[in-house]
Amino acid sequence: DQSVCAHLSVLGRDVTVPLVTGGEVTYAALDYAASAPALQRVWDDVAAYAPYYGSVHRGAGYLSQLSTDLFENSRVAVAEFLDCREDDQVVFTRSTTDSLNLLAAALPEGCQVFVFETEHHASLLPWRDARVTYLDAPRTPGEAVRTLERALADRDPYGPALVCVTGASNVTGELWPVRELAAAAHAHGARIVLDAAQLAPHHPVSVRELDVDWVAFSGHKLYAPFGSGVLAGRADWLTGAEPYLAGGGASRKVARRTDGGVDVEWHTTAARHEAGSPNVIGVYAIASACKALTEAGFGDLVAREQYLIGKVREGLAEVPEVKVLSLFGDEAPRVGVISFVVRGWNSSHFAAALSAEYGIGVRDGLFCAHPLVRTLLGSDPQDVGECGAPDGGTTSLNAIRVSFGAGTPDEHVDRFVRAVKELVRDGARWNYRTEDGRCVP
Ligand code: PMP
Repeated sequence: DQSVCAHLSVLGRDVTVPLVTGGEVTYAALDYAASAPALQRVWDDVAAYAPYYGSVHRGAGYLSQLSTDLFENSRVAVAEFLDCREDDQVVFTRSTTDSLNLLAAALPEGCQVFVFETEHHASLLPWRDARVTYLDAPRTPGEAVRTLERALADRDPYGPALVCVTGASNVTGELWPVRELAAAAHAHGARIVLDAAQLAPHHPVSVRELDVDWVAFSGHKLYAPFGSGVLAGRADWLTGAEPYLAGGGASRKVARRTDGGVDVEWHTTAARHEAGSPNVIGVYAIASACKALTEAGFGDLVAREQYLIGKVREGLAEVPEVKVLSLFGDEAPRVGVISFVVRGWNSSHFAAALSAEYGIGVRDGLFCAHPLVRTLLGSDPQDVGECGAPDGGTTSLNAIRVSFGAGTPDEHVDRFVRAVKELVRDGARWNYRTEDGRCVP
């Protein structure tokens, strides 16, 4: 029932876009995993706040005071959304990437980091200055836990360690066994950070229940597209570290020394890592989205999304040329993020055709998860067709991703499935080839 999520309606449902064939069509935004549209509620809240906008933490005027209150209350709303522990800190950042880089900059001396090769680059790469152990892609959630346990058992048991894991894959949409991985990390004296960029928009995330030490997510994937993100969790590593950015707002006291230098006393609250004038609108929008999702409850959202996932997967299963990418198999629980390749097609051409002929916005490429996509494609090259096969660079190695969530109508996914079928059947004009029949990369 499409109406179950009416209270979570999104903007942009009636935007029309031109088609190459002439005419216009309503845009089918099926790229939520990159950036989701704003919830109407978020837009309304931001618009209502706009006239009262003022600098935070600085001004003496009424609007500055009001803005400061809204900004700090947003922290509380995010903490509630994530079911944080009493003494957790909520730091506002620019994005998940920013949040994880902040944590990477706050690692204690000698920290070992454990990360699966399947991670998004935002959770794979920030640790490069630490001692990183990259773990092979597991083929079941259970194997993920065993692989982590083995790696942690081999580690230096006295030093600090951090595990970084994504809750829901931005490529396969599959859920990772976060609670079990957290238990394994803690049993070996390690900490764990959850990359919830793809999980939080689709599922409730409870820091307490999952027992993760930190969680990171981005507003623009959580229906609040105004350039802010969150890192929430344990205060100790954060207050023990140098500020992520040095500047005003992070410093409590700055004074010239008699020797001519400067002494700085940094804040020990979240402000320590929030130097500079913050993105007040972005923060307010995140809090608004968190409240809207909490009030609506995830029950209807999840049920509706599972129904849409079923429609897309069943539709794609009827096309023998299509191979859906999966690490954990058909039965794995997942969110509305599905990647696939089409035999004999360059994925970029296929995605371009979906846009130009059907007004459908998807993404193609390696989705900032190169090792994972290579593992998924490379494991079965003959199945993915010549355009997906790693053959020394003469063909492309990429995939197509369709993703959706709150506000996605049946018509968008129905149109998508119909478009895939039609293009595979008679879309050859989009499938450029060299004279000897190879795909143009
Ligand atoms: N982690 C995951 C799982 C993601 O899907 C993304 C965005 N694609 C990120 C991290 C990075 O998010 P952002 O670009 O907002 O920093």
